[in-house]
Amino acid sequence: MKHPRRWVAAAAALVLAGTAGVVAVRQSGDGGPPAGSTAAALGNPSAHELTDAEQKSRQREVDLLLGKRAAAVLKNDPAGFLAAVDPKQPKLVARQRLLFTNLRKFGFGSLTFFTADSWPTPKLTEKYGPTTFSTRVMMRYQIAGLDPKPVQTDLGYTFVRRDNLWVLVEDGATDEMLSRDGHRQPWDFQEVALVRRGKVVVVVGQRELALGQKIAQVSEDAVAAVRRHWPRGWNGSVLVVAMPEPQVMATVWTSGDGRGWTIAAKAVTLYEGEQLGKPSGPPIGSRIVINPALRKDLDEDLLVHEMTHVATVPIGPMVPLWLSEGLAEYVRCRSVEDDPEWTVDPYRRTVRTKYLPGLNELPDRKAFDANGDRAYGQSWWAVQYLVDDLGMKKVAALYADLAVHGTTEAAYSTILKRHTGKTPAELTLAVRRFRG
Ligand SMILES: [Zn+2]
Repeated sequence: MKHPRRWVAAAAALVLAGTAGVVAVRQSGDGGPPAGSTAAALGNPSAHELTDAEQKSRQREVDLLLGKRAAAVLKNDPAGFLAAVDPKQPKLVARQRLLFTNLRKFGFGSLTFFTADSWPTPKLTEKYGPTTFSTRVMMRYQIAGLDPKPVQTDLGYTFVRRDNLWVLVEDGATDEMLSRDGHRQPWDFQEVALVRRGKVVVVVGQRELALGQKIAQVSEDAVAAVRRHWPRGWNGSVLVVAMPEPQVMATVWTSGDGRGWTIAAKAVTLYEGEQLGKPSGPPIGSRIVINPALRKDLDEDLLVHEMTHVATVPIGPMVPLWLSEGLAEYVRCRSVEDDPEWTVDPYRRTVRTKYLPGLNELPDRKAFDANGDRAYGQSWWAVQYLVDDLGMKKVAALYADLAVHGTTEAAYSTILKRHTGKTPAELTLAVRRFRG
């Protein structure tokens, strides 16, 4: 943070970051379109109904094939990976070869593919014949040095039986059936380059290596800032996705009701399971996904906000939005002021004069959607007040308690009282009166 325009940049960054990260922790569970409705729309009963036993045996055979493909990735055996790909389709073979090349770059500690639910695809059956089998394929993997446990994503593959063997004939024809991030992972598009710096890994398009190095530097500084200001341990391992394609792990880059804001980056939560298009199980970790339109002009403090989510998401999902966003803003503002030449005073003034007078309750999802700038400012102020009153260690303890046990409104009130001595209404009043 040494350039002369820093102050101007700071003001701009405040606006950006104030409205960024909206989708962060809590919305990641939204899944995408309900798979059931699409399934129903496509669900013409097939003329070739298989018995249960036949279906099971088909699934076993395809699982065996998928197992070989996963082993081929781990063993660096491209021929093994491509063995089941339809050789009559050069484009499909090229796509699958590129997928193999990309997957190899991530360094999986573990990787498995296996079938999940399947659905009739009459048009594909018409094209490929009666043995056509379209299925969701789960990809369960752990990136070495990044993921503390395996996570899952899904793919939609179509196979046919040819010469007594299963052949992969389609790898993207049923994507509309998948989960939100299904077949939209960073390895699913152009050839990638991975830049590793400390525990940070940045994925960019192969032609943007220099950009990847720049983002890796900014990311590493942001990780250091979070580690300075968040007292509970975080090892700083994070994957930052900065691909040119806007579809990678996210389709929507605006948020809020009405006019909407542009989101500059998101922390996308990964769950232990991803079943039938919906996340399941506890949160395991996060990826940071950079808005492609803004990837070349990324501010460190924005990443600090998102990295705070990455550091705290694994603790548990039950944190109220004002606390998760307020904490991310708090750490971001502290990191800005770590540099004595930089200040967030203009933001403070705005909060004091514009956002506090009308504060009747700490902002919830609705308040964030209605007026993001205001909700982020209020949330920041609430955490700033708590840190001032209790100290950061106790605020972190409150966060951790709520993240795991804040399952109901009553539990929330009890935990809040235990840690702060205040009811929700008393806390709101104290935040409104706090001058900073
Ligand atoms: Zn956020």
